[in-house]
Amino acid sequence: MKSVVLREIGKPLEVVDKDVPKPGPNEVLVKIIRTGVCFRDVLTVDGFFPRVKTPLVLGHEIAGVVVDKGDKVIDIEIGDKVASLPYVPCGECEYCRAGRENICRNRRWYGEVLDGSYSEFILLDKRSIVKLERDLDWNYVAISSCVIGMVIHAIEDFGGIEPGDKVLVTGASGGVGIHAVQLAKYYGAEVFAVTRSEDKARFIERVKPDHIIISSGDFSREVKSLSGGVDLVIEAVGEPTFQYSLKSLKWGGRMAIIGNVNVKPASLQLGLMILRENLIHGVISSTLRTLKKALEIGYEGGVKAIGIEMSLWDVEKAHDMLREGKATGRVFLKP
Ligand SMILES: [Zn+2]
Ligand SMILES: [Zn+2]
Repeated sequence: MKSVVLREIGKPLEVVDKDVPKPGPNEVLVKIIRTGVCFRDVLTVDGFFPRVKTPLVLGHEIAGVVVDKGDKVIDIEIGDKVASLPYVPCGECEYCRAGRENICRNRRWYGEVLDGSYSEFILLDKRSIVKLERDLDWNYVAISSCVIGMVIHAIEDFGGIEPGDKVLVTGASGGVGIHAVQLAKYYGAEVFAVTRSEDKARFIERVKPDHIIISSGDFSREVKSLSGGVDLVIEAVGEPTFQYSLKSLKWGGRMAIIGNVNVKPASLQLGLMILRENLIHGVISSTLRTLKKALEIGYEGGVKAIGIEMSLWDVEKAHDMLREGKATGRVFLKP
């Protein structure tokens, strides 16, 4: 099988021929139909994840068909279409027992310590996978955990949107942002989408946010004049927009931090946060529950996967698009 391998941190990715692996007792072998390109993959190449062991097949946004399985896998059959968590949870630690397997302390990530989905085939642990109940757009399946399930986790488990609440999404044309706008609309919010350019604003129009704010600087004044302060920010960018997002919150408003584009520390105005009793929380990945919820929303057609499709073997080009901030929506790769 052909796979995309990171042989050394910081080096170009290589397409190599590998043997198709045999599933262990609790594993399935999945033929990859689609994989998404996450900013995390770019950061992995650039050396921001110290646990990475090279050589490694990158990729953790996984959609495919089961082609082989181990003897202890009973509820999944060959031919089943599956979505997957981007990691294997241990199932036993305090976090796994509390339904917070996304922060399991023994969690192993695909494309970090386990070979990932930039490949024709991948071995998945049975604890990672969810079988599809019916056909669904493969692009949507690929991002059902890392993007859609993650934003659902932000909204349902922390953000608590009621219909009519005001939600601000930064980086709204990006792979996370364009889907976060749709999800916030799905949950009944009035959505404020922030982006840097006219071109990107036109791209965002297709998901019908209530307001589009074009700004590469402080957008908080405009947001506040339109909203009076928002209930929730889905911060899909990170440090470059963080302080303006904080200023856009209303009293008691909350912020979910998902993006970290430049991996720089953000400065936090403590007085502002104290005065208004704002809540800021980090969000990583999805849980099994929110992955399943993402698939349900997909079956209903409540949210669509938006982005461009490329060949997996053009992955370097895809990574460059993300590095340069040129990708609109998700980049989906086909082996
Ligand atoms: Zn991802
Ligand atoms: Zn665990």
